[in-house]
Amino acid sequence: MQTMNTYSFAGKKALVRVDLNVPQDANGIVTDDTRARAIVPTVQKILKDGGSAILMSHLGRPKGKVNPAMSLKPVAEHLSDLLGVPVQFATDCVGPDATAKAAALKPGEVLVLENLRFHPEEEAGDEAFSRSLSELGDVFVNDAFGTAHRAHASTTVIAKFFPDDKLFGSLMQAEIDSVGKVLGNPQRPMTAIVGGSKVSSKIDVLRNLIGTCDELIIGGGMANTFVKAQGGQTGASLVEDDLLDTARTIIHEAAQKGVKLHIPTDAVVADAFAENANTDHCAADAVPDGWMALDIGPKSIGGFQAAIHRSRTLLWNGPMGVFEMKPFQLGTIAIAEAVAEATDKGAFSLVGGGDSVAAVNQFGLASRISYVSTGGGAMLEYLEGKVLPGIAAIQDRASSN
Ligand code: AMP
Repeated sequence: MQTMNTYSFAGKKALVRVDLNVPQDANGIVTDDTRARAIVPTVQKILKDGGSAILMSHLGRPKGKVNPAMSLKPVAEHLSDLLGVPVQFATDCVGPDATAKAAALKPGEVLVLENLRFHPEEEAGDEAFSRSLSELGDVFVNDAFGTAHRAHASTTVIAKFFPDDKLFGSLMQAEIDSVGKVLGNPQRPMTAIVGGSKVSSKIDVLRNLIGTCDELIIGGGMANTFVKAQGGQTGASLVEDDLLDTARTIIHEAAQKGVKLHIPTDAVVADAFAENANTDHCAADAVPDGWMALDIGPKSIGGFQAAIHRSRTLLWNGPMGVFEMKPFQLGTIAIAEAVAEATDKGAFSLVGGGDSVAAVNQFGLASRISYVSTGGGAMLEYLEGKVLPGIAAIQDRASSN
């Protein structure tokens, strides 16, 4: 398989699926350009080789209709600043303007196509639309990990038109390599830390991780369901009563596979789901009526930290408490710091899938994590052990025939 290191883009027009779905203010000014910055290495490598880059992306949810408020034009202008080269813009992603501008593109030049999702065919994975897109370039590069779990025209179907010239961009490769270090053949002990609000959204993640990890830490709102499943009193805490059996099954499977399971032993409790609620501290299985567990307590933090410090590989998905509210963020901060410290000592750490990424950024610890994933939903599905269509389309030679 070709990679960004082996492939020469000299004289080639590279059609690159990127994620330029950046937040903007009412005037179209980009307010957070993390995603735009993340694709710069891929574009620069293409240009350095003597190729040209045609970038295609979605922005927002225009639902298959042209919506000027979701135009990629302001993002293209911002990208020009990041790349330090002029960036051309096609007013549609297919059709005469895109075709003419792509045909005239010279080595070293960059063209951004208008929002793919202005066409309903994009999300439908329409073959004719995919073919039209494919005709703009000589080689297909997928650097949009955030949409890798979607079988859309530009992320998946298009790959079949480039049987010998399709590859992952640098960002996508880094995501794949990081998951490989955690789920492939991790250095042991490997500890997974899973938190967040609900068991229901993480059942498949937990099940898949039990097959790989040595220790599994469960925190956040979802831990309450595990506490109750073991007979604990959870008061008014968030509990999914319909998943008590599922929690028991997970506890049983972990025991069978020799995975050391850590469930909170104490909690910070509150008499309301609010920043200014009255708070107290109690055993996780003795939450008084009317009170709710909104963070893990100091004993749990100590136990979790010890497990993190003895690990060589760490995966973290989901906060330990309601970290958006100050009184309930200590558990998440302590776990984030422990992961950073273990990483300083040589462990490999991957933080991925939504709110835990927000947490490490908020607490200024992202630079001390080995890899912070850019793809929320895509990372979650990857951790569930699912085959992501955008990844399979590049790897799968059979699908290209
Ligand atoms: P998720 O999107 O499933 O990763 O969940 C993230 C959300 O879980 C965050 O908004 C947290 O505020 C919330 N959360 C974490 N711990 C608790 C808890 N003990 N009770 C209720 N919500 C929680």
